[in-house]
Amino acid sequence: MSALHAALRQFPVLDDCLHLGGITLTRLAERVGRTPFYAYERCHIQSRVALLRDLLPPSLQVHYAVKANPMPALVQMLAQLVDGFDVASGGELKTALDAGMAPARISFAGPGKSNAELRSAVAAGVLLHLESEGEMLRVARVGESLGITPRVAVRVNPEFELKYAGMKMAGGARQFGVDAERVPAMLRKLGGLALDFQGFHLFCGAQNLSASAICEAQRLCVDLALQLAEAAPAPMRLLNIGGGFGVPYFPGEKALELPAVAEGLHGLMRTLASASPQTQLVLELGRYLVAEGGVYVCRVLERKLSHGQVFVITDGGLHHHLAASGNFGQVIRKNYPVAVGNRMAAGPREVATVVGPLCTPLDMLADSMELARVEPGDYVVVFQSGAYGLTASPTAFLSHPPPLEVLV
Ligand SMILES: *Cc1c(COP(=O)(O)O)cnc(C)c1O
Repeated sequence: MSALHAALRQFPVLDDCLHLGGITLTRLAERVGRTPFYAYERCHIQSRVALLRDLLPPSLQVHYAVKANPMPALVQMLAQLVDGFDVASGGELKTALDAGMAPARISFAGPGKSNAELRSAVAAGVLLHLESEGEMLRVARVGESLGITPRVAVRVNPEFELKYAGMKMAGGARQFGVDAERVPAMLRKLGGLALDFQGFHLFCGAQNLSASAICEAQRLCVDLALQLAEAAPAPMRLLNIGGGFGVPYFPGEKALELPAVAEGLHGLMRTLASASPQTQLVLELGRYLVAEGGVYVCRVLERKLSHGQVFVITDGGLHHHLAASGNFGQVIRKNYPVAVGNRMAAGPREVATVVGPLCTPLDMLADSMELARVEPGDYVVVFQSGAYGLTASPTAFLSHPPPLEVLV
């Protein structure tokens, strides 16, 4: 059994499918050649998608939100597994197209799209999620200048919000989408423009572990979309109800009950089939597909004592993994699951604080955590690191080289 396999047993939140291609952590680190690095496991991501396919209604489309992890090799792999991609910038659009995803299966959301981004999106033929009346007019102008009728959906900011979401993205005043009450008037204007109306997009929030809260939000989304569709200039062909499926990061958090969410979705599909049979329902997931299939690995440089506290100083830190340091929007800092990857067998243990090389006390990967007693050269592994890792981190801070990324 690999050291990593053993490590996984410590964390009941982790699927034991993550064995990094079946080789030990030390062997993998030798192959990668230097630390720090991120490793993402194909097998884990494949089995996550297979689980969703097993439980969810077959005609429900599953999209991947590229911003969760835009590593090109990983996006290429997912292009073969999911029904579409959601992108949030011109750069992600390029990654999605390069991965071979058909433009008709790509949608582009985001509150601030530049004219250049709109132009390349319209030229490519992807679906644009309109986030304001102003953006609608800009898209229409771009379409006119290119001689193409842009495909558009209206992103709606509903009145309700997603209960228990780690990050709320709807309800009340928001920079995302168009307030639900303004949508009917916007749709009337849309009907007079050279735009191909496809449907609606609603995204209420992210990192939710409550199946009942997700089911309730999805029901409300479908109800609202059916109501708004009455004012639409064309039938609602697409309805993207977001995702928000969370993954457990911290002690005490329980994995989302996917069967309960799936049951709710089966019911919604039936509602939609009778109320609006031409509507294709889309779910967009980011971290749920990739977070648990990734680890961040760094190496111990020093072990030192200060006022009786053990500090493990590594070559990795918040410049590569802001989320694990607790500074990516977290209100209360909690430790991600961390282990010493080459010392999983029984041996001396101690409470230590794992920090990085940066000159700020924020650069901390584990605060007073029980770990195997380390020596310089050991490998510290941060689990649950496949989403919002490298590209959600301030890599330029302190001018260290960026970490490597491997798909194994
Ligand atoms: C970020 C984002 C997602 C993905 O969120 P996860 O928490 O990673 O699932 C999905 N849809 C939209 C519109 C987003 O902005």
